[in-house]
Amino acid sequence: MEGKKNVLDPFGTSLITDYSRLFKEFGLKPITQEILKRIKNPSRYLRRGITFAHRDLDKFLNAFEKDEPIAVMSGIKPSNEFHLGSKMTADEIIYYQKEFKAKVFYCIADLESLVDNQIPLEEAKKIAIGNVADILALGLDPKNAFIYRQSQEKRVTNLAYLFSRKITLNHLRSLYGERHIGLYFAAFTQAGDILLPQLKDFDGPKHVLVPVGIDQDPHIKLTRDIVARVKDQFNFTLPSATYHKLQRSLKGESKMSKRDPMSFLVLNDSPEIAKKKILNAIDGGRKTAKEQRELGGEPEKCVIYELCLFHFIENDEELKKLYEDCKSGKILCGECKQRVAEIVAKFLEEHQKRREKFMDKAREILED
Ligand code: SF4
Repeated sequence: MEGKKNVLDPFGTSLITDYSRLFKEFGLKPITQEILKRIKNPSRYLRRGITFAHRDLDKFLNAFEKDEPIAVMSGIKPSNEFHLGSKMTADEIIYYQKEFKAKVFYCIADLESLVDNQIPLEEAKKIAIGNVADILALGLDPKNAFIYRQSQEKRVTNLAYLFSRKITLNHLRSLYGERHIGLYFAAFTQAGDILLPQLKDFDGPKHVLVPVGIDQDPHIKLTRDIVARVKDQFNFTLPSATYHKLQRSLKGESKMSKRDPMSFLVLNDSPEIAKKKILNAIDGGRKTAKEQRELGGEPEKCVIYELCLFHFIENDEELKKLYEDCKSGKILCGECKQRVAEIVAKFLEEHQKRREKFMDKAREILED
């Protein structure tokens, strides 16, 4: 893949051949030690370099340090159960809600699932209830959050219409490639979501941080371009963003395939199914046990290690030990996978109990 260009496509399949080249190609800034030092308790994603790049995170931190108004914004497309990619964004906004006391804006992008996946709004609502119960079970405090469906939030669609006047087709093509107009309009709607927290109804302009996967950068760029072009009508502050790396599928592909449910975990998987998926996942083991004892495994290539790195081992020392035991050949893949499968099954069991308790609350939040 060397030499191939990185492709960021929020509507399709992104191809990241080299993360280090993204800074130059897309004008992103790295999350440096200097930035990390300004954050009292960096999240697991920040500490481990999973959240690796940003636009104007420093400005968001300035605002926080000066006690200026801030907010954090993200969302989910209700087309599927909550998977680990949705969990990453959810973990991040929950982190900013807890550590920075930031108000959360969480959008259920049902208009996007309508235009992109042809999911009727009523069907999307049912999926969204489960999604909202998931994020509440992960720890989002609904008292300091505004959770809404795009289809019910007129302010967002009104903004989308206004913004669409300011951007040409060529501009959209340069960001998203050739797409049908529905997807372009979904992009304007996303810009409306990102700027909603700055409307007068929510106390006006503020520093809004949008933590997203790197494939979502075109939406951030579009929104920032719009802010510059609507200066005569709105006094928006440029939104900030952080970018996390994309997690590979359990089969090792760069993006999970919804056609193959064995290739990704969802938070509603039964613990037994999840264990099966993990035991069948791609690892970084050698051809034989003898070879692995001699040469050690390759955690850098292993999706089981990636699961622990991204989600399931919070303690850095514990993660380091797994890495070293793997590298030195002290642990073999069979035993390691069993151990990780147990950790994941336990997490899912506890999460699903909490999720069940939040279903009524989720229904109440999404009532019309
Ligand atoms: Fe992956 Fe564990 Fe095998 Fe190492 S021992 S390659 S971390 S499954």
